[in-house]
Amino acid sequence: MFTLTNVGAIAGGDAFLLVTPGKTALLDSGFSFCAEQMLDNIGEELGRRSLDYVLLTHSHYDHASGSVYCRRRWPQVQVIGSAHTGLVLTKESARRLMRQLNDSAGGEQGVTEYEDLLSELKIDLVVSDGDIIDLGSMKLRVLELPGHTRCSIGFYAEKEKLLLGCETIGVPAGTGLVMPCCLVSYADSLQAIERVAKLDIQFLLLPHIGLLQGDACQQFLVDANYWLVETRRRVREANAAGKSEADLIQLFKDLFYTELIRQNQPEKAFDLNASYIIPQMLKDA
Ligand SMILES: [Zn+2]
Repeated sequence: MFTLTNVGAIAGGDAFLLVTPGKTALLDSGFSFCAEQMLDNIGEELGRRSLDYVLLTHSHYDHASGSVYCRRRWPQVQVIGSAHTGLVLTKESARRLMRQLNDSAGGEQGVTEYEDLLSELKIDLVVSDGDIIDLGSMKLRVLELPGHTRCSIGFYAEKEKLLLGCETIGVPAGTGLVMPCCLVSYADSLQAIERVAKLDIQFLLLPHIGLLQGDACQQFLVDANYWLVETRRRVREANAAGKSEADLIQLFKDLFYTELIRQNQPEKAFDLNASYIIPQMLKDA
């Protein structure tokens, strides 16, 4: 048995608390500018228990920033991520960017002052493909799923048929619509979707969205596969017809900057992501 609860402070900084009879784990950790609110939400859910793990799907600021704050509230917590996530989080340039993005996201929420702990960002336990994280009754197998970033990973609990996904497999943009999020590789993203589609999944946790159940899990992966391939086809077709890069980004935006995406992603972040995704789609796979 397990429970999964969104304990994120605000939309876009979502984090999910996974509680099993033996252990507790936070899936991604949200922003830093509103981390205190998230800690309170976690504390309320945990009651007298403490937080054992923070599992980071990748190193982006809206997923990893809150991990430091968790370590301060629960000093024994182990922050888990891939080797590449560990590398990124200790880079001064990455911390600077994360700080800027947190400031800007905080500014949009009217938060101008908060304690900045990003200089303490780190991974306590590096995991790689096939490693098992022991959550008592639940065993999570690490899946390296690069494509969104080089450092992206997911987790699969075979007995529970639960996949804790990452953005490499796509982001829901509406009914039947899944936005590709291949910032570093189209081919790797396609491979990742094909890989997880072979798993027996009855529960699929999607970052920023929440838990899908039953047939909706495989349907999401079918849609993700379709839209990744189809978007690339449309982008390449437009490119062959002589459209500019700005046109291609607009094509992507017309398709995917929907109300659902808007709720979780500021326009600036969306445009920046699109400017990485389009070149990946133009590359020969
Ligand atoms: Zn990301």
